[in-house]
Amino acid sequence: MNCVRIHEHGGLDKLIYEEIPTPKIKADEVLVNVKATSLNHIDIWIRQGLPGVKIALPMIPGVDAAGVVAEVGSAVRHVKPGDRVVVAQGISCGHCKFCLNGSDNLCKDYILIGEHRDGADAEFLAIPGRNVLPLSEKISFEQAAAGALVFLTAWQMLVEKAQVQPGDDVLCVGVGSGIGSAAIQIAKLFGARVIATTSSEEKVEKAKEIGADDVVNYKKQSVSEEIRKLTSKKGVEIIIDHVGKSVWDECIRSLTKGGKLVTCGATSGYDAVTDLRYVFYKQLQILGSTMGKKGDLVTILKFFEEGKLKPVIDRMMPLSQIKEAHRILEEGKQFGKIVLIP
Ligand code: ZN
Repeated sequence: MNCVRIHEHGGLDKLIYEEIPTPKIKADEVLVNVKATSLNHIDIWIRQGLPGVKIALPMIPGVDAAGVVAEVGSAVRHVKPGDRVVVAQGISCGHCKFCLNGSDNLCKDYILIGEHRDGADAEFLAIPGRNVLPLSEKISFEQAAAGALVFLTAWQMLVEKAQVQPGDDVLCVGVGSGIGSAAIQIAKLFGARVIATTSSEEKVEKAKEIGADDVVNYKKQSVSEEIRKLTSKKGVEIIIDHVGKSVWDECIRSLTKGGKLVTCGATSGYDAVTDLRYVFYKQLQILGSTMGKKGDLVTILKFFEEGKLKPVIDRMMPLSQIKEAHRILEEGKQFGKIVLIP
């Protein structure tokens, strides 16, 4: 099969498009013929190498996938060859306290495909049967591959962690990203008012098209001052952030009393400084979040099917153009997701 592999960490030239044998499946696994995959920021970190995280190389990256079941192991009952499926990216032990109470993403053995085992940037993906979910004909492979990880991540941040309520003012940082475009839609679905930040005039219009009520261009305007104006000095109840260091201080200043800042990443740097006076005086909550519960993906797929949540696709490219795709994401040129077709 054709696939992308990383043999050593580094720049774009380390993404090698090559042919390798199709993986063999175990009794509890499914072989998925990948019809679409999509890029996430984690793909860049994995290519570059993460300090303190050991990744066995060579490895196929790619965390999102949708496709058709090609083969099932003898122990797999819920899908059969020919079925359309979407992949739930997180693999956990299945028997610890967290797995049993539905918080599989808190399992100590939790890993992602494309991070600690071969991922989806390939024609075929071997994955545990419990990690494939049936995919309705109403959802395209491209939509499923574009939406699964970012909507699951944004869902946990807004619904589980921040417990968004109708009427809340929600600030979504960095709307051009997949997480940003998912967070705007989920916040609107729950009846919140959404203020988004972005860096370009072109993205301002696109953010409004997918539901943002107000958009702040952080290159031209002070986010905390604009939030003060837009909320009549109150501040926002919830901030959804994945950017980190470069926006952290402005975010802390933009929260209302009792406000919640949910962080799922730090693309601009992790060593942000927090003015603790705001945290205790305003009784703020800073909440960490990563991925989401597998079960929530079932709920999200229902909203995709009904068209109430729509994965935003920036462009589709052949998987063979992986280097160009990484370059576009690294430079932040996209709005929504870059989908790759093997
Ligand atoms: Zn577990």
